[in-house]
Amino acid sequence: MRPMPILKPIRERLLLGPGPSNAPASVLEAMSRPLLGHLDPEFLALVDRVKEGLRTVFSTANPMTLPLSATGSAGMEAAIVNLIEPGDRIVVGVNGVFGGRMAEVARRAGAEVTTVEARWGTALDPQAMAEAIRRVTPRVVSFVHAETSTGVCQPVDDIARSAREAGALVVLDCVTSLAGRPVELDAWGIDAAYSGTQKCLSCSPGLSPVSFSERALERVKTRTRPVQSWYLDLSLLASYFAGAKRVYHHTAPISAIYGLAAGLDRVLEEGLPARFARHTAAGRRLVAGLEPLGFEPLVAETDRLPMLTSVRLPARLRERGEANVRARLLDEFDIEVGGGLGPLAGEIWRIGLMGENARPEVVDRLLEALRKVLA
Ligand code: PLP
Repeated sequence: MRPMPILKPIRERLLLGPGPSNAPASVLEAMSRPLLGHLDPEFLALVDRVKEGLRTVFSTANPMTLPLSATGSAGMEAAIVNLIEPGDRIVVGVNGVFGGRMAEVARRAGAEVTTVEARWGTALDPQAMAEAIRRVTPRVVSFVHAETSTGVCQPVDDIARSAREAGALVVLDCVTSLAGRPVELDAWGIDAAYSGTQKCLSCSPGLSPVSFSERALERVKTRTRPVQSWYLDLSLLASYFAGAKRVYHHTAPISAIYGLAAGLDRVLEEGLPARFARHTAAGRRLVAGLEPLGFEPLVAETDRLPMLTSVRLPARLRERGEANVRARLLDEFDIEVGGGLGPLAGEIWRIGLMGENARPEVVDRLLEALRKVLA
C-alpha cells in the first residue's frame, strides 16, 4: 500500500497577522532553485551580496552584518549572549512581549537586569530610560524599535544617545521595522541589531539578519569567558561569514538565503523611501477604513506603526467571540489576522500590512471581508 502523502495541497492565504507576510513569486521561485554546497564559491559570493544588501537596509557600514541561520529570536539571543557576561548589568525597555523576552534572555545569560516599563500600547519614556541608565551604568541598553505585540513604534535617538553617553552598548530589536520603516543603525549609534526575514522583507521565516558594530566586536574580543552559546558565538560565526578564507561552522540554509537574496533585490529595486511611504499609506488607509466599522486604534497616532495596526474591537464583534470571527475570516475569506498577546489577548486584533501586503488593494480586500462578517 502506498503511504499517504505527508505534503498535501496548501491553500493560499492572505497573511495579515503579525508575520509571516506573503512572499512574492520571485522569492518563492528563488527558494526552489537547485541547491549549491555551502562552501561553493558561487554560494559564498551570493552570501557576500546578501550581506551588502543587508547593510543597505540596516543603513550601516558594519562589516559584521549577516543572515543568521535561525529566526528573529536567535538574533535576540545572539545580541545578548555575545555582549553580556554573567554579572553584567543591562537596562531593558519593556512595553510589550518582546521587550519582556529580551529581559528574560538577559536574565538567563546571567545579567543583572533592570527593566524600565511603559504601559502596553505606549512608547518607552526616554527620560525614564535615561534615569535608569545613569543610575545603573549598565554594560548594555536594549529595547524594541517596533513592538509587534502592541503596534508601538519606539523613537530610538534619545535612548541610544543616553546609553552611549553612559558608555553602554545599544541593542535594538528591528524584527518588524526592517524594510518597512527607516532603520538607521549608524546614525543612531546602535551596536547590535537583529531582525527577521518574514515581516517587511516578505521572505520565509528562518533567517535573522543581524548587524554588530566595531564597538560590539571589541567587547566580544575582551570577554573573560567564552560565549555560552556555541552556535551563536560571533567569533565562530565570523569564520564562515567574514574574512578571506571561509570555513565550515554550520551548514548555511541555502534555499532560505536564495529567498532572502530575491527579497532584498525587490526591496532595493523599489527603493527604501518608496517602500517606507507605501507602508505609511497602507497603515493610514487601514485605520481610516476600520474606524467606521467600530474598531479603535490602541496606539496614539504619533506612536503608531504602519506595518502593524492594533485595534480594540467593536462590541458586535466581541459578542460573536473575537476568535470565532478570526476563524471565519480564515475559513471563508482566506485572510489571517492576529489576536492580542498577554494582557491584550481577547482585547485587540493585530493586523499586519508588511512588505508585499502594504498595498491599498490588500487593505480594501480585508475591509470588504470584515464588512461581510460583521453584517
Ligand atoms: N522581536 C519582535 C519584535 C518580534 O515581532 C518577533 C516575532 O514576531 C521576534 C522578536 C521573534 O522573532 P521569531 O518569531 O522570528 O523568532
